[in-house]
Amino acid sequence: MSDRAASTPATDPLAQFLEAVRRPIDFLAAAPAATAGRTQLPGRELAARGRAVRDCLPDDRRREDLDTLCDELERLENAAPAERAEAARRCRALLTAIAAAPPPPEVTPEYHATGADDLAAALSKLGQSVQYAKEVGPRRAALLHKFGIDSLEDLLYHLPFRYEDRRRVRDIAGAQIGEEASVIGELVQLADRTVGRGRRRILEGVLRDTTGLLGLTWYNQVTYFRTRYRVGQRLLVYGKIERSPGGGKRITHPEIDAAPDETAGGGVLPVYEKPTSISVGAIRKIIQQAVRDHADLVASVLPADVSGTAQLMDAAAALRALHLPAPDADVDRLNRFASPAHRALVFDELFYLQLGMGIRRRQSERESGLVLPRTGALSDRLAAGLPFALTGAQRRVLEQIYADMAAPHPMHRLIQGDVGSGKTIVALFAALVAIENGHQAAFMAPTELLAEQHFATIEAFASELGVRAALITGDATRGQRRKMSAALAAGDIQLAVGTHALIQDTVEMPNLGLGVIDEQHRFGVLQRAAVLRRLRGAVAGHTPDILLMSATPIPRTLAMTIYGDLDVSVLDELPPGRKPVRTMIFNEAERGRVYQLVKQELDRGRQGYVVYPLVEASEKEDLRDATTMARELGRTVFAGCRVGLLHGRMKADEKDAVMRRFRAGDVQLLFSTTVIEVGVDVRNASVMVIEHADRFGLSQLHQLRGRVGRGSDDAMCLLVAPYHRGEDVFRRLKAMRDTTDGFKIAEVDLELRGPGEFLGTRQHGMPDFRVSNLIRDTRTLAQAREAAERWLSVDPTLSSPESAALRTILEHRWKGRLGLAEIG
Ligand code: ADP
Ligand code: MG
Repeated sequence: MSDRAASTPATDPLAQFLEAVRRPIDFLAAAPAATAGRTQLPGRELAARGRAVRDCLPDDRRREDLDTLCDELERLENAAPAERAEAARRCRALLTAIAAAPPPPEVTPEYHATGADDLAAALSKLGQSVQYAKEVGPRRAALLHKFGIDSLEDLLYHLPFRYEDRRRVRDIAGAQIGEEASVIGELVQLADRTVGRGRRRILEGVLRDTTGLLGLTWYNQVTYFRTRYRVGQRLLVYGKIERSPGGGKRITHPEIDAAPDETAGGGVLPVYEKPTSISVGAIRKIIQQAVRDHADLVASVLPADVSGTAQLMDAAAALRALHLPAPDADVDRLNRFASPAHRALVFDELFYLQLGMGIRRRQSERESGLVLPRTGALSDRLAAGLPFALTGAQRRVLEQIYADMAAPHPMHRLIQGDVGSGKTIVALFAALVAIENGHQAAFMAPTELLAEQHFATIEAFASELGVRAALITGDATRGQRRKMSAALAAGDIQLAVGTHALIQDTVEMPNLGLGVIDEQHRFGVLQRAAVLRRLRGAVAGHTPDILLMSATPIPRTLAMTIYGDLDVSVLDELPPGRKPVRTMIFNEAERGRVYQLVKQELDRGRQGYVVYPLVEASEKEDLRDATTMARELGRTVFAGCRVGLLHGRMKADEKDAVMRRFRAGDVQLLFSTTVIEVGVDVRNASVMVIEHADRFGLSQLHQLRGRVGRGSDDAMCLLVAPYHRGEDVFRRLKAMRDTTDGFKIAEVDLELRGPGEFLGTRQHGMPDFRVSNLIRDTRTLAQAREAAERWLSVDPTLSSPESAALRTILEHRWKGRLGLAEIG
């Protein structure tokens, strides 16, 4: 995903693309017109590949050239014979420009800061408990600690989420209609009333200061605001001053500070998120004092070259600018997190992140791995026996995998493919290549159900090919497990399919060549790193190839960050004939219609799912749950239909039995919780109802929906949600209705949830983001990445004296999660 052409040409997708284009283009450009006219070129496919590696290019010039090249390639596919050679020559020129070596990095190792000893001392001071800050005693320290602020450094980096422009505090008489202003006063009235034929409730308040009265109006969340404030309270309100219908002035939906710090001066005030029992003013005082006392400990050790090129201000100065804004500060920019100080800190954070990622990646490139060239002994036979042709995307990804496996370094590749894009078969081909070479392969799934299903699919092919496969899950008896372990250790099992039982400490797979981890994001607490370590631990003397698969597509910029240490392949094509699942939204009163639609499908001989968020009714909330509803509806609306129930609290063999009956068509309608979320594959299922769709996250809804429409027939997904929906819920459901593209869905999801939750950064063993927001800061991210890569291209192990300070900071930020010691 970066310019790695120099280190490993064979596994670099960019280099691979350039190679793939070079030969046909050279040929076409040189061929006589008649030959050129007859030669077929898969221009569109090449263009798609080109676009996929766009981010690998180091600068905008090259990226633009690539865009032009891809456009040309696309046109070339259908170009008139006479134009082909000419077009090919244009492509060739572009290709040369793109492939040219990047300009040599001008790295001037010079620091405008502290020496290494001072640095270590400063970092350790910054790491001291927040209790060392002034005005923070044991009680406040405990509160802050609970809030996630542990050290002095955490305090310094706890940035304001908003700035209040007290330069615009007005008395009510002086506030001008049309301007945005703050007003401090006493709330003297607050009441709701209904308007417009009694349909709508609004909330109205009156604020008084010594000069006059100001109306406050709310149209939304009336109850919330009515109970939130009380008459007599002093408030600072902020917003646009409007003329109210009855004359006078008012603010609609004002921003409110319920505990205005009236002693604070008239400048720009930072506002912080805080534990409830520390006041706005107190937290401000604590942080501002800490900045005055300790900001100087934050060293700027970015190489002068890096900070100079990126035009960054010094980190300590940036902290001061953000916590102690100057009287003439640009409040709008501060509030958009777009001030130069913000950029400096964001860059700094992302630079170290990318530096760490770059090192991780280089570490795995230096490891030696198995050389597993495809022989075709098994894989060709599988290809010949498949009931379908592989999609272009599947073939392309397989080529990448084969190249990785044949290379002398361990493969670390992630396949991202939307639900139903056919990842399983790709993994099976990869497994066969390992087995062809006399090694074992392990295929790991996140749930028993899924492992069993994969096993069923895989076993059918495996037995055909004479490959010895076995299923290994947690609920085997001890005796069975011991036998399995022995068979694995002896190499009698060539292909092991299972859950994380596969990587338990007792399992040895000395001859493991390839580990596949399906739905890797679902492994939760079991971190990727831990799984990998364990897989390696199961092996004697070499590092196996690893293939990760995920159906949660991640937007490119993010993938670059979070999977910066992996190679990423994208299965961006569904098998032919799939029709998008028609998605409709219903409110609870429309349930009759929903059932009717389901009934129609069942009558046509199709099957369906009804998914609930809970297993059993909880007393507190009126959620419809799978167990009760299966019973109730099975007796009423769906009497005469064969219904089944599936949930996570059933024993594995019960679940299995139900699934088997569903797969065989004995069960027509399956009431289920989210246990069916990932991977389940029953082609005859054509309708899915999701009850309480508002309770599910967007990616989860998309996964669920992926269970239907897996054949070539029409399928429906019916989302049922309460009539009253919050903004977020509304956007989620709408996104579901309007798109079936997993990448677009992931983008909306990311926007709604924010990167922390979307990615579970901790789970990925990365440092937490303190100041950056990966959606907002994509440009800075790209710059930081470029700078980090440039530095690493000169000093890949950070072992030169010039890198000493960087290394110290890096260790500090990643808190040992990089294992830098190993590479020293
Ligand atoms: P996912 O990527 O969601 O894990 P699966 O691997 O379960 O998808 O594949 C979904 C379905 O598509 C399976 O039934 C599989 O057999 C089928 N399939 C996979 N590849 C192709 C193809 N090239 N043509 C037709 N069907 C395919
Ligand atoms: Mg799958």
